[in-house]
Amino acid sequence: MPRVKKQQQEVKKKRRKKTSPIQIVKGMKDILPPEQLLWDYVLENSRKLCKDFGFGRIETPILERTELFQRGVGDNTDIVEKEMFSFETQGKDKLSMRPEGTAGLARAYIENGMSRWSQPVKLYYEGPMFRYEKPQAGRYRQFHQFGFEIFGDDDAAIDAQVIYLAWKIFQKLGIKDINIQINSIGCVECRSAYKKLLRDYYEMKINKLCMDCKRRLDSNPLRLLDCKEEKCMQVATSAPQIIDHLCVPCHDHFKNVLEFLDEIEITYVLNSRLVRGLDYYSRTVFEVWENNSEGGQSSLGGGGRYDGLVEMLGGEETPAVGFSFGVERVAESLLRKGIQLNHSVKKEVFLVQLGDKARKKILRLFDKLIDSNITAGESLGRGSIKSQLRMANKFNSRFALIIGQKEALDDTVIIRDMESGMQEVVVMDSVVKEVKKRLKG
Ligand code: AMP
Repeated sequence: MPRVKKQQQEVKKKRRKKTSPIQIVKGMKDILPPEQLLWDYVLENSRKLCKDFGFGRIETPILERTELFQRGVGDNTDIVEKEMFSFETQGKDKLSMRPEGTAGLARAYIENGMSRWSQPVKLYYEGPMFRYEKPQAGRYRQFHQFGFEIFGDDDAAIDAQVIYLAWKIFQKLGIKDINIQINSIGCVECRSAYKKLLRDYYEMKINKLCMDCKRRLDSNPLRLLDCKEEKCMQVATSAPQIIDHLCVPCHDHFKNVLEFLDEIEITYVLNSRLVRGLDYYSRTVFEVWENNSEGGQSSLGGGGRYDGLVEMLGGEETPAVGFSFGVERVAESLLRKGIQLNHSVKKEVFLVQLGDKARKKILRLFDKLIDSNITAGESLGRGSIKSQLRMANKFNSRFALIIGQKEALDDTVIIRDMESGMQEVVVMDSVVKEVKKRLKG
């Protein structure tokens, strides 16, 4: 074989050799257009309800100082101990990608002087959170939360309102087989006495505990109550219950929350082992659980009161309460239920073209139509008129606007009624007016 030909073949072979595709980071997930319809449904309904309840939207950065979570969420929590994506910047700042939203909102409340706003301050937020957890079904390393918080009011009615709004969002979305699990973990004073009691109890059973619980017994004994290891769950069944050890103000507060819930007919399950994992919680804690097909229950969202957090982060003493849910979990639940979203995309008109000249005219006509609030679809590819008309049918369009080679030269457009098949030629300048007239009729 001549040398030049051989060289050409070598070059071709090299080009053909594929580079291996770059894969998504473990625990992360692409959210593609069909799924986005579901996400829009979840988020739009949630936003609307929050606005109806008087909440204003806030966005805080994904990156915060690591110290915010160490101080707010707590050094001895799973999240801070082992789940944060943290790094040092070139300027030596220690930053973390937020593992949850509340600490950032409390920082923003302080930093933006919201204590001077009329109280309570009601905020809602949504966005990605990051936790270095073992990926599994419904558990990702990047996931999204929708949440809302009320700062500046410690009344039990406010706790009930937050729970009510959480409940209402799920009802509105069509997730009705949920139950509210609720508990009170008291305030700093009654909780520390209870923690001592709990430690004493667990120390007597130390041999029956998993390694994690043995380790956590000193630093975070409350967490032992919600350990998912079978043997630890056994031990937890006879553990002292915090509800029996609340101080009088915490006891009364919790009683009031439950009375408000009774009043608005929200059913709840008292769960003495529900503690939530984070240090900032005080008094009311709750989770929304959904019954799953295996007969178990999974958590769609959780929240509670955190009266000490703002002060812990350097602000004034400010009671607060909030809730957040995982958007992936909710979207997956809706998918399992086979939700039918009425999202068949309807385009009032569909633009059909043949030839380069017509394609150029279509671009301008499309622009004019959407400026006139007429929903339009187009196919700028080189498909036949027949295949483009099939697309018009798929989009349920009432009219197809056809520009062939002749129309492109004459500056005219054929308006085809997709139902009757009747066609009429109109001049380009009047097409928008003519379409509007026909759409009204
Ligand atoms: P948490 O405050 O940790 O209870 O989280 C509140 C909600 O966020 C949970 O009930 C889940 O719906 C969701 N969530 C938490 N962690 C993850 C995760 N790793 N992946 C997906 N969703 C999560």
